Amino acid sequence: MEKLVIVATGAAGLTAAIYSARANLDPLVLAGDVTGGQLTTTTDVENYPGFEDGIMGPELMDKMQAQAKRFGARLQQGYVQDCELTDGGPHKLHLQGGKTIECEALIVATGASPRKLGLDSERKLENKGVSYCATCDGFFFRGVPIAVVGGGDSALEEGLFLTKFGTKVYIIHRRDEFRASKIMADRALAHDKIEVVWDSVVEEVLDVEKGEVTGVRVRNVKTDETRVIEVGGFFAAIGHIPNTQAFGKQLKVDEAGYILVDGDSSRTSVEGVFAAGDCADHVYRQAITAAGMGCRAAIDAERWLSARE
Ligand code: NAP
Repeated sequence: MEKLVIVATGAAGLTAAIYSARANLDPLVLAGDVTGGQLTTTTDVENYPGFEDGIMGPELMDKMQAQAKRFGARLQQGYVQDCELTDGGPHKLHLQGGKTIECEALIVATGASPRKLGLDSERKLENKGVSYCATCDGFFFRGVPIAVVGGGDSALEEGLFLTKFGTKVYIIHRRDEFRASKIMADRALAHDKIEVVWDSVVEEVLDVEKGEVTGVRVRNVKTDETRVIEVGGFFAAIGHIPNTQAFGKQLKVDEAGYILVDGDSSRTSVEGVFAAGDCADHVYRQAITAAGMGCRAAIDAERWLSARE
């Protein structure tokens, strides 16, 4: 039986791995679909302390992984499909492919995934011009106009990044003011390749019949007018949903699926199970706050394990 398993390898999971490996807990880190978490799909991280000139998201994650391995954390690919959690443990994790792992203590740091608009046309054109990651796919849209939906920091960051490739970037937002921070809003509004389409919702991504993105049909929510904007690429950046499907039946979660923790700790509703990062935080959702939560979870797990011994 494993002493400590950490599920997922974003900033929260890897920080928990660094701390718990240094505490001699010999953690097993199970990496899900996206090793490195959301930071692997972002570009410049300018607000992570210690990197005055910024650092690329994937590079930051590589460094965290290397740091965790240096202290003996074992990283393994493994997607948790289901689990059986017991107060005080042991906890059973059922992985895709049939394997089951048992552990005394568990840290869930499964992060969050991009939210989709939910349009039929969006689904049909996914990977055919519809994307949720500018860093991953921006390169494919060189020399064509691009649309980005959303009004938060992610949408503006993606929009600004996409100006490197697209002839023009339309940022389509459903309200008349951004949710994003002022610094990002100022940058986007000042960029000569960016045009903001205010008060507008996307009704359809075109053209499903052709099997490629040729435009978007948007409706102005104030005037009810619709129009087609011709674009060759479509990015949705409208927030995230927590990756807690495998744990939500066993742990207490809120109505949006975020894991609930006890007061100011990382303790979940099951004794010996701790949560960290975006799967348990719908408020701050920053790399640095996720890392801080990972540190807390490792310390809580270490104290819980040694109290038992
Ligand atoms: P967010 O702040 O929740 O913003 C989501 C945006 O999508 C909002 O503008 C929202 O509109 C819009 N939206 C949501 N559902 C929609 C729908 N169905 N149709 C159309 N529009 C929809 O999410 P985020 O931008 O991913 O940011 C998440 C967190 O990460 C934030 O705390 C943010 O500050 C942080 N972040 C920081 C940076 C940075 O510092 N460089 C970069 C990325 C993210 P409304 O405004 O009308 O609700």
